[in-house]
Amino acid sequence: MIRGGAQLHRILVIDDEASLHEVYRSILCPAAASAPSEGATQETQPINAASSGGTEGGLSFVLESATNGPQGLELLQSAIMRNEPYSVAIVDMRMPGRWDGVETVKRLWQVDPELEVVISSECASHPWTRVSQELGRPAKLLLLRKPFDPAEVWQVVRSLVQKRSSEVTARNATLALETMNQRLRHEIDARKSAEGKLLFDPLTALPNRVLLHNQISSCIDRFQRDSSRGYAVVFLDLDRFKEINDSLGHDTGDALLIEVSRILSKMVRLVDITGRDCDLAARLGGDEFVLLLDGVNTSADVRKVTTRIMTALHEPIAAGGQSIRAEMSMGFVLGTTEHCTPDDVLRDADAALYHAKKHGRGLVCEFNESIREKVLTRRRLSKELRKAVAKRQISLHYQPVFSLDDGTIEGFEALARWMHPELGAISPGLFIPIAEEEAIISDLGMWVLHEACRQLREWMTVTPACGELAMSVNVSHSQMLDTRFVSTVADILNSHGLAGHQLALEMTESVFIDNIEHTTRVLQDLRRLGVRIHLDDFGTGFSSLSMFHRLPVDAVKIDRSFIADMRIDGHVANIVHAIQIMASNRQLKVIAEGIETSDQLLQLQALGCPCGQGFLLAKPMEPTEVPALLKQGGDERMRIIRSLKPRDVA
Ligand code: C2E
Ligand code: CA
Ligand code: CA
Repeated sequence: MIRGGAQLHRILVIDDEASLHEVYRSILCPAAASAPSEGATQETQPINAASSGGTEGGLSFVLESATNGPQGLELLQSAIMRNEPYSVAIVDMRMPGRWDGVETVKRLWQVDPELEVVISSECASHPWTRVSQELGRPAKLLLLRKPFDPAEVWQVVRSLVQKRSSEVTARNATLALETMNQRLRHEIDARKSAEGKLLFDPLTALPNRVLLHNQISSCIDRFQRDSSRGYAVVFLDLDRFKEINDSLGHDTGDALLIEVSRILSKMVRLVDITGRDCDLAARLGGDEFVLLLDGVNTSADVRKVTTRIMTALHEPIAAGGQSIRAEMSMGFVLGTTEHCTPDDVLRDADAALYHAKKHGRGLVCEFNESIREKVLTRRRLSKELRKAVAKRQISLHYQPVFSLDDGTIEGFEALARWMHPELGAISPGLFIPIAEEEAIISDLGMWVLHEACRQLREWMTVTPACGELAMSVNVSHSQMLDTRFVSTVADILNSHGLAGHQLALEMTESVFIDNIEHTTRVLQDLRRLGVRIHLDDFGTGFSSLSMFHRLPVDAVKIDRSFIADMRIDGHVANIVHAIQIMASNRQLKVIAEGIETSDQLLQLQALGCPCGQGFLLAKPMEPTEVPALLKQGGDERMRIIRSLKPRDVA
């Protein structure tokens, strides 16, 4: 409390001699000393330095007094209630009644332990050591011997008041510091956890996309100023991660990602989030990781790191109680002045990774001009494909499938073609995967089904003599996931008046990878309609023999790579033979794809392969060419087949 520029301190006097109250008052509040006092009284008077015997000014006292302990305690309690505590209590040692000085002080401290106490006592009556021992808080206690010198009273009170006020100041300061400290700690914690969430991947604790972008940005900035210190970005992707996740469970998948992130972190110098440029291993999500290599200028430098990673991955990884052999594909790009944003760099590294994955597993590919070209074309095509479907730039060609026994035409395979107005004919090998990625395949696939069935009905109508033909249509994996697929197929057959067995759906083993139970159910429903299921590109997929036996299919199409290698490699011929035997054990039809030479045809006939297609017999043709072929019946191609039959040759 401040009064008249002086600090105001409250003093409590408890003494049964009321006259002494006046004495204290005259010493501590000289100007008020003459005012009458009765019982508990109070007077205020700033003490000025001159009148207080040369002590420093700036202190003033309020003095309240009581003549016994209980009265004094009451005063203290009400002062505390008012939040105007006393700084010092001067308590007489010897008082009549229930409480002597010691008892009174004990009670006072129970209410205010911070209270500074002066015990006033006659010389011999109470030995100081005993009092001090009994009260037990020597630091808060001073003794004033009666009769006292006024200067002594003044000095004792002043020094206690100052002691108390510096204690209060110190305590307040400590409290304020503690509060501030706590607030700072909370702020830091909050910021750290927000930063953590913002900048780090919660599963692997690796930097996430945001932090990666920051670091790449600073590399780009530095490289634009000083191209002598380069950088590279490596995009990494675990091969077969989906299969691992699906077969071993997501917990094991997560554990594998954590282990892989540890391996990657060890391969690079770790990140410094204070902004210093250095290497970084980040996770973008799923099984996608990125390394930022700082200070590398050549592909050879990058390949040292990628080779180290490949070597580390040779060892099986212990994850989720399993021992897993993980393989990664990688694509990388060295930073150039053309890379202006992190997205530019990541896009190129990603394109290189895409390229690597297309050529197999566990490969590393560096971004180059031809990849850039391919990416640009791909981007353009994916933009234009949707419109192409709407504008009917997509058409179907048909490749006949022959009986290798008597050369009759058993049916056709519908193959999609994109006639681009500027780029010319675009292979389905290029645009079908784009349609799959862009989720256009469902619409496109439905159109193909419709059109192929409509076409078959038309041919059968114009050439009734050709008998019943079958149409094979390629179906993509994602079409099978459409819940309306089976009913739409039924509707299409119906609307064109075709029997179920006149339609064969060709699909690769990849349709079984994701959800074999679902796919199997769909296939069974289709077969109930009479629709045939042909396993396309057989021999190139993943299926084990045990799996093969469970697949509900009607025919296998031996991939043309086997047919092409058959003559050169006796081993391949044996594989084709084995497929033939396996299929006939299950009463599956075998269709050979890509027959290009008479030798191949002859060999397939010798192996007893019943059906085939290929450029030797007929290339995919325009629909308008087909009726003539059907009408000819004894066409040249059929003669080839018949003439080459081994028994005829013999
Ligand atoms: P696929 O199903 O394996 O089709 C056979 C491919 O081999 C066709 O290529 C065909 O033209 C080609 N071919 C046939 N005989 C020979 C031969 O003797 N030698 C050689 N070298 N090739 C031969 P195309 O038409 O380029 O189709 C490529 C792939 O595109 C198809 O492979 C199929 O997977 C996919 N595709 C085509 N049309 C569609 C469609 O409508 N829907 C879906 N989902 N995929 C389609
Ligand atoms: Ca096919
Ligand atoms: Ca095929």
